[in-house]
Amino acid sequence: MSTSLIKLNSGYDMPQVGFGLWKVNNDTCADQVYEAIKAGYRLFDGACDYGNEVEAGQGVARAIKEGIVTRSDLFIVSKLWNSFHDGERVEPIARKQLADWGIDYFDLYIVHFPVSLTYVDPEVRYPPGWENAEGKVELGKATIQETWTAMEGLVDKGLARSIGISNFSAQLLLDLLRYARIRPATLQIEHHPYLTQERLVAFAKREGIAVTAYSSFGPLSFIELNVKHAEGAQPLFEHEAIKSLAEKYGKTPAQVLLRWATQRGIAVIPKSNNPKRLVENLDVVGFDLKEEEIEAISALDRGLRFNDPHSYDLPITIF
Ligand code: NAD
Repeated sequence: MSTSLIKLNSGYDMPQVGFGLWKVNNDTCADQVYEAIKAGYRLFDGACDYGNEVEAGQGVARAIKEGIVTRSDLFIVSKLWNSFHDGERVEPIARKQLADWGIDYFDLYIVHFPVSLTYVDPEVRYPPGWENAEGKVELGKATIQETWTAMEGLVDKGLARSIGISNFSAQLLLDLLRYARIRPATLQIEHHPYLTQERLVAFAKREGIAVTAYSSFGPLSFIELNVKHAEGAQPLFEHEAIKSLAEKYGKTPAQVLLRWATQRGIAVIPKSNNPKRLVENLDVVGFDLKEEEIEAISALDRGLRFNDPHSYDLPITIF
């Protein structure tokens, strides 16, 4: 099964549906990536912070070795962690991440959060997480401009084909666009019917920046992390507005949620280790919701955000 493509401002095509690697366990990651490639996934959304890039790379290597895909069939995404925002840290860590994956370029490399933290030597702890070597959350000094200039250097050196940002607000994006020599190709944000971010999405689109949605199923991903307001929110799969459309179209609630996003021109990166759901999540461009149905889902917006440092009791405010 193939998925539709989004043309990025860098000239490259990005699959509209991909596989997210957050919380994919180390012991199953290689197999999951391999199985996902067999099921038709071509985009993998990884990150230093997910701590499974070596294993994800092993899954990719196996699929390439068996002739299922070539490297150029795949679209591999990774992210710069907060501890490596200082200009001189960006290239070395990107090179380490490429070595972990066993590849020589990323299709897309993203600034994970607009937060600079003090450097943690990968020899000391990797991935570093939010805390420094002394176990404290300590802000670093790198400006977004310094980090972005180093990100542009990765494109110049062929280490990343496209570069992007994540968890940025419109204010930060406005600032970044003033000095960016290479514009961000994508903006990755939390996006589901409880957090539709209409204005930010419209602004990114107007600026030619593709939007990728993460946590498309809303609270579900955060219940396992014991995020309290996720436990209190009505599960989207059980919401009447979603359930009734799933019944109408003979699809699952997950497919309705993903189709709502893809029909709005947004890319999605759901994750599953269940073979049936893996295929189901990829099959989300072959049916169309009506305009009023898309609007009815969007009307569920409550500005309810789950992936916020505050959800994890971190002393940092982004949003
Ligand atoms: P998700 O919305 O993909 O949800 C995952 C949960 O839904 C899992 O519990 C999974 O078992 C379940 N699920 C998946 N498919 C299903 C189906 N068809 N039916 C029923 N249940 C299903 O959540 P996510 O992992 O938070 O987000 C997806 C990806 O986005 C991540 O893996 C990661 O790559 C990326 N992400 C990025 C950031 C960021 O800060 N940039 C933050 C969070 C996630």
